[in-house]
Amino acid sequence: MNTPACPLCCAPPETLLWRDDLLRVILVDDAFYGGFCRVILQRHVPEMTDLLPTERAQVMRAVYAVEQALRELLRPDKINLASLGNQVPHLHWHVIPRFKDDAHFPDPIWAAARRSTPARAVDAEALRSAIGKHLASP
Ligand SMILES: [Zn+2]
Repeated sequence: MNTPACPLCCAPPETLLWRDDLLRVILVDDAFYGGFCRVILQRHVPEMTDLLPTERAQVMRAVYAVEQALRELLRPDKINLASLGNQVPHLHWHVIPRFKDDAHFPDPIWAAARRSTPARAVDAEALRSAIGKHLASP
């Protein structure tokens, strides 16, 4: 069951990298954090424990596929995984490539910026392809 007021149920136009019946992976539109992805459940539930165990495993498999694809393409210094949902209680995971010279490192990207940085682009097609490859393999 979807909730009309929820921005993740009624998604605005977004750059879709992967989707199946359970979840979708989108590229977040953030010029300074190219490669920042979200894994979003297709239905409105707030917590991982609202899912069946097989669904939980499927969600994490997608999170790990995105992480692996980002590591291969961007070679970040660190990957940040976060599932907060305090503002939007619709299950989603942030998968964020981090670099020692990014605006917030070593703080979370939601902290106050420590420095200004140039934009960091990502090749969305290459990322889509790499995520697909990881999700297709057993
Ligand atoms: Zn929702």
